[in-house]
Amino acid sequence: MIVTHKPWAGTRNTTITKGDTVTQFWLPQKFDHHSDATFHKPFKLWHISMRILLVEDDTVLGDGLSRSLADWGFNVTLAVTGAYADSALCTQPYDMVILDLGLPDLDGLEVLRHLRARMSAIPVLILTARDGLNDRVVGLELGADDYMTKPFELRELEARVRALLRRSHGGFNHDIVLGQLLLDTLNQQITVDSRPMLLPPREYGVLEALLLHVGRVVSKDNIAQRLAVHSEELADNAIEVYVHRLRKRLEPIGISIRTVRGLGYLLEQSKNE
Ligand code: CA
Repeated sequence: MIVTHKPWAGTRNTTITKGDTVTQFWLPQKFDHHSDATFHKPFKLWHISMRILLVEDDTVLGDGLSRSLADWGFNVTLAVTGAYADSALCTQPYDMVILDLGLPDLDGLEVLRHLRARMSAIPVLILTARDGLNDRVVGLELGADDYMTKPFELRELEARVRALLRRSHGGFNHDIVLGQLLLDTLNQQITVDSRPMLLPPREYGVLEALLLHVGRVVSKDNIAQRLAVHSEELADNAIEVYVHRLRKRLEPIGISIRTVRGLGYLLEQSKNE
């Protein structure tokens, strides 16, 4: 299969209901993600796995921003109330939060306070009409990573979102290395000995999730949620299938995926390497 266009060439919008995912990424129909084919071009799928919770009660702005974020390649969930955001953050593994402060129920600062009280280190960008020094200071003191005021330029928002995600996934060194395997989080590419590793998107997603958490066990749920950017459900054994395929690919370079019973998977160098 030769893919000649970006896999994130479109967005699909669904009806907005309270706290729903309004904009989802999808891959073009002819893109067969079950295929085991080797692609002719390296894929840049890092953004597809990046899940952003957008907390915004203004549905026009929220919908517009959701579209922009999806166009930039992110998987976006829109929360229109503070309470929804609060509960979503307790249950879902988001990579970042864009947080409005003036919400109809719980104030955005309360959502942030609860998040940090749970010892969560998810990057938070406050995006608000409140431009007073006091709000800015309180927001940052409560643990926000960045603060932008409305009105804002989309280009600046995009740059700040990418900067925060880069910082939280590998700090200033954008490479995550395990043996000959390297994930370049800046350029969204996995290489083996400096050569691009060409993988079908879902296998890429699984390997990327394991590399982003290298040295730690990654649960099957966590991987499944990262892959849940398509409309169809993952089959029950889908993760096992992708892991099985990846094991075969990784074996020759001395990398293994260990099953930690009841917990998930751990990416590591094979013992005799
Ligand atoms: Ca608001």
